[in-house]
Amino acid sequence: MLCRTSEELQALVDEAKRCTVKGKVADYIPALGKANPNDLAVAIHYPNGECTSAGDIEKKFTLQSVSKVITLALVLMDRGPSYVFEKVGMEPTGDPFNSIVKLETMALSKPLNPMINAGALAVTHMIKGDSVKQRLERLLEFVRELTNDSTVFYSEDVSRSEFETAFLNRSLSYFLKQNGIINEDVEELMDLYTKQCAIEMNSLDLARIGVVFAMDGVDPISGKQIIPSDIARICKTFMVTCGMYNASGEFAIKIGIPAKSGVSGGIMAAVPGKFGIGIFGPALNEQGNSIAGIKLLELLSNNYQLSMF
Ligand code: GLU
Repeated sequence: MLCRTSEELQALVDEAKRCTVKGKVADYIPALGKANPNDLAVAIHYPNGECTSAGDIEKKFTLQSVSKVITLALVLMDRGPSYVFEKVGMEPTGDPFNSIVKLETMALSKPLNPMINAGALAVTHMIKGDSVKQRLERLLEFVRELTNDSTVFYSEDVSRSEFETAFLNRSLSYFLKQNGIINEDVEELMDLYTKQCAIEMNSLDLARIGVVFAMDGVDPISGKQIIPSDIARICKTFMVTCGMYNASGEFAIKIGIPAKSGVSGGIMAAVPGKFGIGIFGPALNEQGNSIAGIKLLELLSNNYQLSMF
């Protein structure tokens, strides 16, 4: 077991925190621009229920793209892999998360993977339910089960801020609609997607989600199989191939842990069979990953030989 004590983990946080000055908080969603770039928090959740944490652990943040893995798991459970992968591909892109370019230049009939925005929008479209409200409630219930926290909700402030400025995501959605990947009203999809991205929690909750993925979909505390193991495996594979934007290859080589990041500075990592890690550090590097979060994962991976490769 690594970092048994919070002091041990705090020393790594202190070291990683030095690089926050080189990062920048995302502000293309205006509400995210309010984050403190110096914050850094980490929690490690073990299968036996023990947790080690350090840093600004009580701070809540929105999941942003981390939500894409969770929604993918729900939709794969709702619809099954063949239905989902008829509409979304399985290949990394090498382009930024919000790029529209491959959809047009490669004349693709479907987005390349569910971790880029085009693919994530298609996945969100597939959440079952009769209304946006019901689909959101089903997603929230799933997140509450994963975190074992019945109070999980979304940030009104952040979802509204993104809804008002999501011009690129609207463009992607219209493109998907033109290509027959989605058939719902784009404003409704934006409403659901921006609320999904604004689901809020702290790093302890995120580490708890990580441990469920790490244990092949089983909640190690209750013993319940929350996500079927083949679906947890698909999600973790996407985390490796496309979870860290267009830095996923470098991340796999240097760190070697399935992980998904978001522009809020959250990172959810699942060390297979061992533990879940939740990180929050809003100062981002050029690819949109938490700059101190990556450093911290690098220190953990190197110090404790966590790479799966
Ligand atoms: N809600 C954000 C967007 O669609 C998520 C992006 C991210 O975290 O990568 O722009």
